Amino acid sequence: MKNILLIEPDYKNKYPPLGLMKISTYHKQKRDKVVFCKGCSAELKGQIWDRIYISTLFTFYWNKTIKTIKFYSKSVKHPSHIFVGGVMATLMKREIQNEINVTIIQGLLNEKGKLGYKDDDKIDYILPDYSIIRRESNSFLEYFYPIDDSYIAYATRGCIRKCKFCAVPIIEPHFTNSISIAKQVKAIKDNFGEKRNLLLLDNNILASEEFPKIIDEIKSVGFERGAKYILNENGKKVYLNRYVDFNQGIDSRLLTKEKMRLLSEIAIKPLRIAFDDIKYKDIYIEKVRLAAECGIKTLSNYILFNFMDTPEDFYERLKINVELNEEFERNGYKSKIWSFPMKYSPITGEFCKNRKYVGTYWNRKYLRGVQCILLATHGVVGPKKQFFEKAFGKDAKEFIKILMLPENFIIYRNIHLNNGDRNTLDDTIKSLNKEQRNNLMEIIFSNNFNNIETQTNDKCISDILELYKIK
Ligand code: SF4
Repeated sequence: MKNILLIEPDYKNKYPPLGLMKISTYHKQKRDKVVFCKGCSAELKGQIWDRIYISTLFTFYWNKTIKTIKFYSKSVKHPSHIFVGGVMATLMKREIQNEINVTIIQGLLNEKGKLGYKDDDKIDYILPDYSIIRRESNSFLEYFYPIDDSYIAYATRGCIRKCKFCAVPIIEPHFTNSISIAKQVKAIKDNFGEKRNLLLLDNNILASEEFPKIIDEIKSVGFERGAKYILNENGKKVYLNRYVDFNQGIDSRLLTKEKMRLLSEIAIKPLRIAFDDIKYKDIYIEKVRLAAECGIKTLSNYILFNFMDTPEDFYERLKINVELNEEFERNGYKSKIWSFPMKYSPITGEFCKNRKYVGTYWNRKYLRGVQCILLATHGVVGPKKQFFEKAFGKDAKEFIKILMLPENFIIYRNIHLNNGDRNTLDDTIKSLNKEQRNNLMEIIFSNNFNNIETQTNDKCISDILELYKIK
C-alpha cells in the first residue's frame, strides 16, 4: 500500500479538481491510502509520501502554485515523485521545471504511461471520488466547493476550434465523444448518492454529432425541463428545481433551430452563449432571440474584454444584451440575459504569470475602471437598462468618461453625483488647456497615482490627481 497525497493550491475556485478526484479513485482501487487537501498543510508536509499529485489551473496563479509545489518538495524521497498536472502544468512545463524538477503531466490522463503505470490511460474515464471534496468525509479539507451537490460530467473532450485566447486546443487537441452521461450519472449516484444538479464541462458540446442522443440521456437521468429534486427535510418532502449547466458555454455558430429546441427540452439553467467578439453580433443576436422563442428563461453570457476588442465594442456588446432584454419584455418573453464580463489574460508568454496584461486597445485605468464598476454590480451586468446606464453610461463615450473617473467616484457614484463632486471634477477638467489635459490623461491612463509630485509640477493637475489617491 502506497501513501498518496493530492493537493490543490489554495486559490479560490468554484469547481473541484476533477483530475485529482479521478486519481484518488485510481489509487484507492490499488488499495493505496489517499489524502486530499487544499493548500499548504504543515501536518501533511511533515510526512513522507510515495507520491504527491498537485493540480494546477490558470497560469496567472503562478506564484501561489509554485509556492505550493515548493512547500511539499521535501515531503517525498525525490522531487520527481511530485506529479504536477492540469492547465498551467500543460502550458508551462519548462518554466515550472526551471523552478523545481518535478514530474509534469501534460494534457489529459487518457494515454498510457503518463503516471508510470500500465493502465493509467483509463484515469480520464474513471469515476471521480466525490468523498475527497466533502468536508464531512475529509477531515483535511477546510474549503467549501459551492457546487458539491452536482453531478460533474463530460460528454465530449476537446474542441473543433482553435481560439487564440483559449487553452483547450493545447490541453485537449482532439475532439472526441467521451463516455455516456447516463453511465457517469448512474455511477456517481450509486457510489455517492443522488445529486440535485448536472454540471457539464464540455468545451463545445454542439460539435458532437451525438448531440440529440446526449440530450435524450440527460432527460433519461432525470433532467428534463421542469425536473424536480426531492429533498427529505425532517420527514417532509421538499421539491426543488433541478438544473443542467453546460458551464463552458454553447458555440452560437453551431446553434441551429433544432439544437435550440433540444436544449429547451432539458432543465437548462443558465444557457451560456459567449459573445467574445463584436464581429459575431448578428449571429449572437439571432441565437439569443431563438433561445427566447424556445422558452429558455435564463441566459448567462461571458463577455470577453481586454483581448483584441476596444472598450467601445465591449460597451456595445453589453448594451446589446440590455436592449435584447428590453425587447424580450416588450414581446412578452420571460427570458433574461445576465452578462459576465471576463478579462482576458494571456495563457503563454511573458504576461501569463499574473493578471496585469493590458490589451492593445486598453490601458491600466480603463481596466481598473471596469473592475470598479463591476465591484458595484457584484461582477454581473443585469438586464435592467436603468441600472446599466447608471453604471456603464448611456453610450460608449460616457462609458469611457466613467472609466476615467477616480475609483471612489465609480464605486460610490450616487454619493459623488448627489454631493456635486462629479460636476466640480468635470468642470475643473474642462477648464484645463489642451496640453494640461493631455498630461493629465497620460498620468490617469497609467493608473499610477503614487508620487504625483514626480509626475507633474502643474498645481491644477496635481490637485485633480489627489482625488485619484482616495480608495
Ligand atoms: S470554441 Fe470555446 S473551447 Fe473551443 S477553442 Fe474556442 S474558446 Fe476554446
